[in-house]
Amino acid sequence: MNAADRPPSSNFIRQIVEQDLAAGKHRAVVTRFPPEPNGYLHIGHAKSICLNFGLARDFGGVCHLRFDDTNPAKEEVEFVQAIERDVRWLGFDWGDRRFHASDYFEQLYDFACHLIRTGKAYVCSLSAEDTRAYRGTLTEPGRDSPYRTRTADENLDLFTRMRAGEFADGAHVLRARIDMASPNLNLRDPVLYRIKHAPHPITGNAWCVYPMYDYAHCVSDALEGITHSLCTLEFEDHRALYDWILDQLPVPCHPRQIEFSRLNLSYTVMSKRRLHELVTGRHVNGWDDPRLPTLSGLRRRGVPAAAIRDFCERVGVTRKENVIDLVQLETCTREALEQSAPRALAVLRPLKVVIENYPAGQVEWLDAPNHPQRPELGSRQLPFGRELYIERDDFMLDPPKGFHRLAPGREVRLRFAYFIRCEQVVTDPVSGEVTQLICSYDPATRGGNAPDGRKVKGTLHWVDAAHAVTAEVRLYDRLFSVPDPAGQDDYLSLLNPQSLQVLQDCRLEPSLAQGGEARQFERLGYFAPDPDSRPGAPVWNRTVSLRDTWAKVAARG
Ligand code: ATP
Ligand code: MG
Repeated sequence: MNAADRPPSSNFIRQIVEQDLAAGKHRAVVTRFPPEPNGYLHIGHAKSICLNFGLARDFGGVCHLRFDDTNPAKEEVEFVQAIERDVRWLGFDWGDRRFHASDYFEQLYDFACHLIRTGKAYVCSLSAEDTRAYRGTLTEPGRDSPYRTRTADENLDLFTRMRAGEFADGAHVLRARIDMASPNLNLRDPVLYRIKHAPHPITGNAWCVYPMYDYAHCVSDALEGITHSLCTLEFEDHRALYDWILDQLPVPCHPRQIEFSRLNLSYTVMSKRRLHELVTGRHVNGWDDPRLPTLSGLRRRGVPAAAIRDFCERVGVTRKENVIDLVQLETCTREALEQSAPRALAVLRPLKVVIENYPAGQVEWLDAPNHPQRPELGSRQLPFGRELYIERDDFMLDPPKGFHRLAPGREVRLRFAYFIRCEQVVTDPVSGEVTQLICSYDPATRGGNAPDGRKVKGTLHWVDAAHAVTAEVRLYDRLFSVPDPAGQDDYLSLLNPQSLQVLQDCRLEPSLAQGGEARQFERLGYFAPDPDSRPGAPVWNRTVSLRDTWAKVAARG
């Protein structure tokens, strides 16, 4: 069965939704994906997207896309556009249900006034430093702010003037009046609003007070009629605040917050702060660098959206913290591409071969199927002539035992073509480097079999020199040299210096001149055309090798 067709497996959130629907709690499921537009989406976000949109799809509900744009200083339109592109590319559609927390700024403000009037919020004028000191610690209770006893009228007056722009950043905040002795620090009179004289990408200069995430998020959920508000485990301790705020307000519904564990991936970093550092510090080439775990990077690398959905499905949804091995993503990628990618011949490190007994100027067009298991993908014609390229690695002057490829005097099969024998080796007189092989071919072996039944041990890929397209190919390896770079202070020193290898002089079969779709370069891996390609100068990225080369390393070591 194709991975994409596999029915979704159950998980604890799915079970809660099923029970709620069976109990008649909701008419339909409404979920949301709430990114903060302060960076590009990564594969961790994909887990949340697949979960939220997947539940809506499978239970006939809807999923909203909501930009959590409560922090104007850090948010940019570029990020909004990138997020929309990435969610669509992953295969999900929010229809006309695209919202912003800023859509609710007026309502959020009114609710804040409601909290003030009911004695549940007050304006506090402690400095940031004093606020911290009054807050207490995990082991010590906090102390009440001296401003906690301001009257509702006083608070309303101050809050109105905060909005009107009478005060500088940091002069006052609006805080919930809950319990400074609560063992849960999130309930020690958390800040609901702060003053920030900064223009907002959508509301412009309309506001100089902005709601905090914890306040805006639960109210936005309630206003949108969200039934299940799914978030990552670090918000578990915020749930009490989520519920407290909604309990104080005349909101239309009270969504249920459910936490699940984040997706972590080995050999990479996923926090937006670190991704920002990598991009702005030019340690990688932009947000869509194919070495990054961003969705735009994975897309550019050639990872199909179906592989990412399959990966998220296989990783599952639990409350257990874990780090997923990058190999699992590579496996999903390989499985998706094995099905979909047509085959092609390409030589990454070319070594010239001259077939001495092949007529100069003659060209034969040999039939090559595009996919060994999928005849419906048809075939193409490969040119074959007197001068060819083979992979440098496929020849050894003095081969060790077990090397079944080409060597002096040896015969091998060229894929879809003929048997050739190495008759003579041309070397550079100075460096001793092999520069060319003089070979002979057996015309009776056209198609790759000898009528006399003789066998050869190796089959090599090759490209006809006269028709070859010269290309740049970029090979990628893990971005970091250690499995857990995020856990290290000086993580930038752990970047893998070999994470990008650029090969300038690769030779591709002529059908690859136009770029186009992802391909399997036979024996080399899966490759996708890069947007840097120019007419006559294609650039291809290796998405993933054919086998898990790291497993081999581990087995040897
Ligand atoms: P930061 O990296 O700064 O902590 P964030 O990753 O939480 O930010 P948001 O834009 O707030 O960024 O994330 C949007 C949604 O995606 C949130 O609901 C969040 O819980 C979810 N999400 C983010 N990272 C992961 C992850 N690694 N695994 C699963 N879900 C994630
Ligand atoms: Mg967040």
